[in-house]
Amino acid sequence: MEIYIHIPFCVRKCGYCDFLSFPCGEEMRGRYCRSLIEEIKRTAEAIGSQTADAKRTAEALRKSETNCPGTGQAVETVFFGGGTPSLLAPDQITAVMTCIRSEFSLNEDAEISLEANPGTMDEARLYSWRENGINRLSIGLQSTRDDLLKTLGRIHSFQDFSRNYQLARRAGFDNINIDIMSALPGQTLSDYCDTLKVVTDFCPEHISSYSLIIEEGTPLSRDKRLLDLLPDEETDRKMYEKTKEVLGKKGYGRYEISNYALAGKECRHNRGYWEGVPYLGFGLGAFSYFGHARFSNGTDIHRYLERPYLPFRERADYEEQTREQEMEDRMIFGLRMMKGVSRTKFAEEFGLDLETLYGRQIRKFQEMGLLEISGDRIRLTDAGIDVSNRVFEEFLLEASGQTW
Ligand code: SF4
Repeated sequence: MEIYIHIPFCVRKCGYCDFLSFPCGEEMRGRYCRSLIEEIKRTAEAIGSQTADAKRTAEALRKSETNCPGTGQAVETVFFGGGTPSLLAPDQITAVMTCIRSEFSLNEDAEISLEANPGTMDEARLYSWRENGINRLSIGLQSTRDDLLKTLGRIHSFQDFSRNYQLARRAGFDNINIDIMSALPGQTLSDYCDTLKVVTDFCPEHISSYSLIIEEGTPLSRDKRLLDLLPDEETDRKMYEKTKEVLGKKGYGRYEISNYALAGKECRHNRGYWEGVPYLGFGLGAFSYFGHARFSNGTDIHRYLERPYLPFRERADYEEQTREQEMEDRMIFGLRMMKGVSRTKFAEEFGLDLETLYGRQIRKFQEMGLLEISGDRIRLTDAGIDVSNRVFEEFLLEASGQTW
C-alpha cells in the first residue's frame, strides 16, 4: 500500500493555483503537524482492530497486500505533497516520519518523496530530509525565466532553484523530479525550448511537464491582461510536441501523459495510483482508496484540527466502490500509462477478460489507430494519448450501457 501526506501551506498563493493550499503562521503549522500525527496513529489503530473483526477490510487487506500494524505487511511508498511540504521545519517532517515508521512497517526500499519549492529549501532541511529516509525530491521549478515565474506568482527565482538543486545533489539526493509548465502567459515556443534545454542540462532523473490550465476562480482567470498573453492553440500544441521530442532525445522515456523519466526512475507512488494500489491519505483534503472504498478528509481546516481522525465510514464522501467502478478505474488510469493495462493482471483481479468487457471499444479505437494490443498489454498509441480524454469517456461502463 501507499501513504500520502498533504501539507496545505504555502508562503503565498500563486495566481494560477487551485490546489488546497493557503498561507498560515507557525502556530497553525505546529497544530497541524500534531493533528497529522494523531490521525496517523488512530488510523493505524483502527485498521488493526478492523482487520480482526471486519471481514470486508480483512478481505481487502489480503487482496491488496496492504500494510497495517495488525498484518505486518509493507508500505511501498510515502509521498509528502501540497501545498509546500518543504515549508515545514525539519523537526516537523522528522516527527511525521517517525510516526509513520512506528505505526506502519515501511519497506526497506520504500520510495519516500517530498515536494519542494525552491523558495523554501536550504541545506539544513535537505540534510534532515535525507536523514529521515526521504529519497526522492520533486522540485517545482515551472520555468527558467524569472519574469514568467513572477507572472505566475511563484516565490522563487531560477537562481534559487539552481542553488538548491546543487545542494540537494550534495546532500545525496539521487532521484530528483523537476516540474515545468508550458502555455504560460507571454511564453514563446523558444522560451519553452530554452526551459527544456536548461532543465535537461541539470540531468534530473524525472521531468513532469504540464500545460497551464486556467482554473475558474483563480486570480489569473480574472486577469484580462495576462489572459490576452496566453499562447494560441497552435503554439500550445507545438510546445507539447517539443516536450516529447526534446525529452525523448535526451533519454527520458514518457511513461505517462505528462511524466518522463530515465530508465527505472518512474515515480513508484504515482504509478501505484494508476495501477490501483490502495493508499491512505493523511492531512487536510487528503483522499484515500482503501478496503475497496474511496473517502477523504474534507477541506475544513478547523474541523480537521479539532478532530483529525474520523472513522472511514463517517467521512462525508465515503463511497464503497462497485466492481464496475474498479474495473473502469483500472482501465482508464491504466491507459494513462504508456505501457497500458495488462490483460493477465486484469483477468486475475476481476476474473474477466478485458476483451470480453471492452471488446467494442477496443476494436473501435484499434481501427482508428488510437489503441493497440501488444502481447499482454492494451495501450494507447501516441495519437490516442493526444485525445485521451475522449477515449477514456468510452470506457465508462455505465455510459456505454454495460453492466456486469
Ligand atoms: S506553491 Fe504550488 S500549491 Fe502553493 S500556491 Fe503555488 S502552485 Fe499552489
